Amino acid sequence: MESCRVCGGDGRIKNSFGGGEKTCPACHGTGRRVEEPLFRDVTKTKASHHAATTKAAAPAKATWPTTHDGTTLATEVKASGLSEEAKTRLVREIIEYEGSHGKCTQTFTKKVRKQLR
Ligand SMILES: [Zn+2]
Repeated sequence: MESCRVCGGDGRIKNSFGGGEKTCPACHGTGRRVEEPLFRDVTKTKASHHAATTKAAAPAKATWPTTHDGTTLATEVKASGLSEEAKTRLVREIIEYEGSHGKCTQTFTKKVRKQLR
């Protein structure tokens, strides 16, 4: 028989708040080591699960331009009378254009604005 790792086999631990003693939460006073998962294992599982969730959410695709001109243009697209499908396509074009050129040029802006009429 192995002794409880929390209380050392006493079945009781010091209460850090009141100064007295209380029943060991790990072995419930038996002093014997139990095979239940320890608290830190539960925390570890939760932490790794959280990390996996964060990792999965990270590579989300951009849905809106990042440059000033691109944002202005995309706002005009959204405010236009085009269909939602056409708007989504144009916004996607703006994002891709500024992604490869670093900004939205006057030529590109004019080209997009033509399609808004
Ligand atoms: Zn114990």
